[in-house]
Amino acid sequence: MSAKIIDGKAFAATVRERVAVHVARLKADHSITPGLAVVLVGEDPASQVYVRSKGKMTVEVGMNSYEHKLDADTSEADLLALIQQLNNDEDVHGILVQLPLPNHLNEDLVINAIDPAKDVDGFCLSNVGKLATGQKSMVPCTPLGCLMMLRDHHGSLSGLNAVVIGRSNIVGKPMAALLLGDSCTVTIAHSRTKDLPDVVRGADIVVAAVGRPEMVPGDWIKKGATVIDVGINRIDAPERGEGKTRLVGDVDFGSASEVAGAITPVPGGVGPMTIACLLANTVTACSRANGLIEPDDLTV
Ligand code: NAD
Repeated sequence: MSAKIIDGKAFAATVRERVAVHVARLKADHSITPGLAVVLVGEDPASQVYVRSKGKMTVEVGMNSYEHKLDADTSEADLLALIQQLNNDEDVHGILVQLPLPNHLNEDLVINAIDPAKDVDGFCLSNVGKLATGQKSMVPCTPLGCLMMLRDHHGSLSGLNAVVIGRSNIVGKPMAALLLGDSCTVTIAHSRTKDLPDVVRGADIVVAAVGRPEMVPGDWIKKGATVIDVGINRIDAPERGEGKTRLVGDVDFGSASEVAGAITPVPGGVGPMTIACLLANTVTACSRANGLIEPDDLTV
């Protein structure tokens, strides 16, 4: 293996330490404790795990965590009323509605009901528009974590060719906007892209956010390129015993790490950075809400 492993788990721990320092300062100097409200509708097991670990880490960095667990059949009116209540609550600086929502709830409507200043996921139209036009916004957590790792590895990204595979609203598009903001030459590839291997071969930076296990092999990767693997896919792992599974990314780590200059592993790459950036966004939102200078080591 030749690639440097970009250790997202370790990086995320340093981001959480920075968050904790800023939280302690907000408490000591301004008597303010940042608060993050997480709203979970229904009993999706994966969502329950995410919400639990978000709550735990929120408390670990010294912030207040408010969890709102609603029944799967909660009406849209009741959910919107809760969001309004959280929008008006001065102790709540960040609001996250765990997605996906049950089918009877309109996700767009719900997300856009969140006060943009408290929209720590950065998904509402106002924040999407601000990111696209280069204004200060709340930046979606997963792409924010990817950009932090890229900046840490490269320093300047200016002039590099970046290919983002995937055009989702939560990863691909905001990732492309951030890379463009850092003066990369950006290509967004997707399921209809022609000659995807050749497109990827031209990239100094590859961000894979597709959701297809090990889709990107090493022979698509330019020698020395940096590979950020956002994908989280669970596959069967009979070698570990009957019925066992394991997590893999969208990149074939074995072959890609032979040619890449640097690569994020799955697990332990992008995943841990996402929650760390959620905490960072909450501190940023809290600082802005109180007219304080926002920490420049927690955002981009
Ligand atoms: P999505 O399903 O919304 O989007 C997938 C994108 O991949 C689409 O834009 C589609 O055009 C593209 N695509 C599909 N098949 C393709 C193909 N054969 N070639 C090229 N492009 C193709 O998914 P998403 O929400 O953006 O998530 C992508 C992956 O990232 C998933 O595995 C998800 O679990 C993971 N994810 C991880 C984190 C994290 O914290 N690490 C956060 C969000 C998503």
